[in-house]
Amino acid sequence: MSTAINIESLFKTYPDGTQALKGVNLSVEKGGFFALLGPNGAGKSTLIKLVTTLYKKDEGHLMIDGSDPDIDFKRVQRAIGVASQDNELDPGETVMALLRFQGRLFGMSKTEANKRAEELIDLFDLQPVSDKRTADLSGGNKRRLHCALALVHKPSILFLDEPTVGMDPLARSLFWEVITRLNREEGVTVFLTTQYLEEADKHANDMALIVDGRIHYAGSIAGFKQRVHPKDDSSLEESYLTYIKNLNTVSER
Ligand code: ADP
Ligand code: MG
Repeated sequence: MSTAINIESLFKTYPDGTQALKGVNLSVEKGGFFALLGPNGAGKSTLIKLVTTLYKKDEGHLMIDGSDPDIDFKRVQRAIGVASQDNELDPGETVMALLRFQGRLFGMSKTEANKRAEELIDLFDLQPVSDKRTADLSGGNKRRLHCALALVHKPSILFLDEPTVGMDPLARSLFWEVITRLNREEGVTVFLTTQYLEEADKHANDMALIVDGRIHYAGSIAGFKQRVHPKDDSSLEESYLTYIKNLNTVSER
């Protein structure tokens, strides 16, 4: 199995002195459905921003879809799509206009960009709001628009940073149908962060647990459950809670 994402000794300290990543090693298989889990402030979004070259790393080596972004930045940009947690959307633009504009940014003709925008509006059920300005969208629709924008150029690796925050249960269920179909039928590698552990449990195969800028576990979800609760058939959420509570108890001693 070849590797979609390979991360070696990644470090990041923000200008205010916060050490967000303290030497991360991680690899994600091509076509995999991978979940990066961890408490708030653990470094998940920072990791995504460095891997997707939105922020500069201090140290470390990255290979994304076979390319080093320091050497072949353009190729990496084409291979990845990022629905980041805190991306600003131009508030005055409509959903349709933004999607078309994104296609044009990736070099599509006007006709191609319009067609792709309509496909994505259908895919994410955004028809009812396609002419609304992004400032007037609900939180859930904004998240779906972020994902649609990330997919305009048909990337082979999709990064989703807490994608379902603010979605109602039906929207979440439809959203995961779309993402799992992309993963299974089109082989898109999915790199997800979420605080809804049942989503990771249901859809992802592999995971990493990051706490305070360090990876504590990387491997299959089944393997993590087995490690924490070897005797019981527990959910990912139960295993995660046991692991984190245990860490806190150890650090309080
Ligand atoms: P997560 O996504 O896991 O919640 P983040 O990657 O957002 O965590 O944050 C990791 C750490 O880095 C936190 O301590 C956070 O406060 C800090 N941090 C994040 N972004 C910045 C920034 N732009 N400047 C300074 N510190 C930051
Ligand atoms: Mg985050």
